[in-house]
Amino acid sequence: MITSAISNSSGPDHASLKRPLARFKRQVERLEALKGISEHLSWDMQTYLPEKGINALAWKMKHLEMMQNRILRSEKLHDLLTELKERINELSPEDRAMVNLIAKAHERVTKVPKQLLEEFAEASVRGYSAWEIAKESNDFSKYEPHLEKLVSIVRSEIEHRGYKDSPYNLLLDDYEPGLTTKQLDHIFSRLKEELIPIISKIKNSKHKPESAFLFKAYDHGEQMRLSKVILEAMGFNFSESRLDESMHPFCSLFGPGDVRMTTFIYPKDIIHTLTSATHEGGHGLYDMGVDPKFYKTPLFDGASCAIHESQSRLYETIVGQGMPFWNHFFPILKEAFPEQLKDVSVEDFYKAINKVESSPIRIEADEVTYQLHVLIRYEIERDLIEGKLVVKDLPKVWNQKMQDYLGITPESDSRGVMQDVHWSEGSFGYFPSYTLGNLYAAQFYNTAKKEIPDLELEISKGNLIPLKNWLNEKVHRYGALETPGEIIKRVTGEPLNPDYFINYIKEKYEKLYP
Ligand code: ZN
Repeated sequence: MITSAISNSSGPDHASLKRPLARFKRQVERLEALKGISEHLSWDMQTYLPEKGINALAWKMKHLEMMQNRILRSEKLHDLLTELKERINELSPEDRAMVNLIAKAHERVTKVPKQLLEEFAEASVRGYSAWEIAKESNDFSKYEPHLEKLVSIVRSEIEHRGYKDSPYNLLLDDYEPGLTTKQLDHIFSRLKEELIPIISKIKNSKHKPESAFLFKAYDHGEQMRLSKVILEAMGFNFSESRLDESMHPFCSLFGPGDVRMTTFIYPKDIIHTLTSATHEGGHGLYDMGVDPKFYKTPLFDGASCAIHESQSRLYETIVGQGMPFWNHFFPILKEAFPEQLKDVSVEDFYKAINKVESSPIRIEADEVTYQLHVLIRYEIERDLIEGKLVVKDLPKVWNQKMQDYLGITPESDSRGVMQDVHWSEGSFGYFPSYTLGNLYAAQFYNTAKKEIPDLELEISKGNLIPLKNWLNEKVHRYGALETPGEIIKRVTGEPLNPDYFINYIKEKYEKLYP
């Protein structure tokens, strides 16, 4: 429910603005409808599409994208945007945010030559398939020319669009509006100086938690049932959401009353099955909480990738890997799997699921070492885009950084520089969102603990609703109305501050590894 915090859009003061605004909104609605249909197709593609159906689906997707670009590129939209931007201060906050978001999308498709966009689309498809082959055969040289091409296309796209200070700033701004390389350098250097000593202390610690029981065979159906039990406790109601299975879990927001999550059920890894559910559940609660009055506008969305990731990581790590949560859920888990968890106490379980270990693979990393995996990718892609690093040197630089930050060297490039898909498709600038999400999560949670009476006591009784209600009220309902910077400041009283995450890690892991 929306109260006074979000102004009531009663329309512009000046009658002369009414017409262009109404015409603009009609264009926006058409765009949103096309985007929504694409999302349905994309959900289908990632869930139940038979292997051979991909060409038919890709054809429809391509046409939908062309239709969206035609609207975004149109003279009509251009003129309306020019008119509305001139009088932006007379608009309501909602209309202003909408104009800014559409103007950004319009600028992207108009400033970059069509030929370059097409070149990019093709290079990213080829890059992806070359990456698959190179990764499979552990041969970086098969990937190198494709990656080189993608870097050069992205760099020239940035030149066309224009940037301030660093070309990487433009990519960052696409994912995390307003964030700069300078701010990010500061955040990561803080993390580096604090986390590296913690990791080496843990490495030398006598405490080596036993975790083999997490990796026994766990029944598929029972794991799915428990995932739903947890999601229901988080506040889901399956008349307005779904949980399906897919190779790579994700969450889609289709409209009010239709939020769909997918998960992956590991045959022999109970904790990754459950964290996959809590992670997507965090995304799902955000989506479900956006004010329905924003439907059919670009505000019916999250504020940014990192703010979205803050919601998923809050439930996955801070809540879902915390002691209060397992005080309630461990007996339920043990009842479902008495054999596998025989003689395991809740303390043993808690220690096992929070085991810290340097490993070469980012997606298998614990919450402490994870940030350094992201840091390595950030430093490399920033230097690539700024022209300070050439693709040829990537394997060498990668391994050196792994050694410096995590004290290990990957046994192969497949499990090193080629492990992630992102760059192969020309996606640069996304990686920092993962770490930013963790930082936002810790800062939000710190405020939640102060504002929700007995928050962790309630969680330990299995009552996760006060947290959901608080997040609905403070974060979710605003959708994409505010920028990430505005949200964190309004909710926590200060800009993003990595100290909340650092303190959370210190406090938790000093107890686990005394
Ligand atoms: Zn996520």
